[in-house]
Amino acid sequence: MDLQHWLGRANDAIQQWADTFGPYEQHPSLLVDDDRFAVAFGELTGRLRENYPFFHPRYAGQMLKPPHPAAIVGHLTTMLINPNNHALDGGPATARMEREAVAQLAAMFGYDTHLGHLTTSGTIANLEALFVARELHPGRGIAYSADAHYTHGRMCHVLGMKGYPVPTDDRGRISVDALEDILRTGEVGTVVLTAGTTGLGAVDPVHSALALRDRYGVRLHVDAAYGGFFTLLAGADGPEGLPAEPWRAIARCDSIVVDPHKHGLQPYGCGAVLFRDPEVGRFYLHDSPYTYFTSSELHLGEISLECSRAGAAAAALWLTFQVLPPTPDGLGRVLGAGRRAALRWADLITASDALELYQRPELDIVGYFPSVEPATLSGVDAASARVLADGMAGTDPVFLSTLKADRDAFTARHPEVTADADGARILRSVLMKPESEDHVQHLHDQVTLLARS
Ligand SMILES: *Cc1c(COP(=O)(O)O)cnc(C)c1O
Repeated sequence: MDLQHWLGRANDAIQQWADTFGPYEQHPSLLVDDDRFAVAFGELTGRLRENYPFFHPRYAGQMLKPPHPAAIVGHLTTMLINPNNHALDGGPATARMEREAVAQLAAMFGYDTHLGHLTTSGTIANLEALFVARELHPGRGIAYSADAHYTHGRMCHVLGMKGYPVPTDDRGRISVDALEDILRTGEVGTVVLTAGTTGLGAVDPVHSALALRDRYGVRLHVDAAYGGFFTLLAGADGPEGLPAEPWRAIARCDSIVVDPHKHGLQPYGCGAVLFRDPEVGRFYLHDSPYTYFTSSELHLGEISLECSRAGAAAAALWLTFQVLPPTPDGLGRVLGAGRRAALRWADLITASDALELYQRPELDIVGYFPSVEPATLSGVDAASARVLADGMAGTDPVFLSTLKADRDAFTARHPEVTADADGARILRSVLMKPESEDHVQHLHDQVTLLARS
């Protein structure tokens, strides 16, 4: 897709529509001289160079990458109109696109009924899911794994609920036994299961937790902000295929959060929350004196905590799904490549004497650390920090990230490393670009050199 071509077409199409309303003069207060703008624009593009090359396969750090051109064109085209998906008065077309895209997300997880909407972020989407959880189980708390996103602890505080962090196993997944011990107290009303932790991409055993729901009368919320789209690889053939059980079980959970701005090829400003029971919409109900004139149909603002939201975000996701739908043959192929890249790198690291694998990747996130002699946590920590810094400094740079592993988590995986500190930074690479698949050998060679020097 040639962006220059399609952005020109975008401008023409919206202008043609605008022209049907007749000419008008722009107010002089808004007029800006082109020369003056050129100076400011030059400064902007100059300042934007202060960035890491998220688009390039040599960037193998955090969960960052640019949107797909379809999303960019969808977003920018719609932004020329700037609809607001709070209400049908603000953006009838994009509100409908949002409904359609959200229905595709719900179908991807196997929900046969749903109520849901897009949000500005996974944080807000999780806040909504926990808010509904509180309304349904007032006075009872929220359990989540110790490796769950920190937003859950924080949102418990915001919502005035008690949070119960649950220990994880030696792969970073919630311990079902430890969870059951907490549920026996009767104090927990909702369990958060993470399908793809932010740190290492660990997938909680959602299928094992299902039995606990009935036994203890709890709600199950799945935080799949990062990992949700990996459900497209559940049971797939080939090395990228994932065990089906936890992913299939998500369809039976009460709510789901997924971030299209992480693995859905979207620009920031696109999270989503889905509820299996549409009846929970009653908790949001309110009267707005300002909006809801044009339709008695449900307005998205009536079922979301946020008010104004970019219609452009919905249009971008809708347009992307027209060409790369959330199906195994669509987006699934994009995720599959990243997953194969992670497995391949894990194999190279396992065979290497300069690097060690922290744990086998479940999705597309690789955790590893330089081999050090003597093997101590403080040695691993210093070596990881050095590789991170040296990697960015050279003329052929490589961009990684680090993850703080605490002492118990580290020694559960690597008892041979002496625990002389309360934890250690390890190296972490999120291989979320399909291009990484062809770049992994080069990355490995570079990081190996850095670790040896
Ligand atoms: C990223 C992430 C969040 C937070 O989402 P934002 O879109 O960054 O606000 C929550 N949970 C998990 C598992 C995540 O990976």
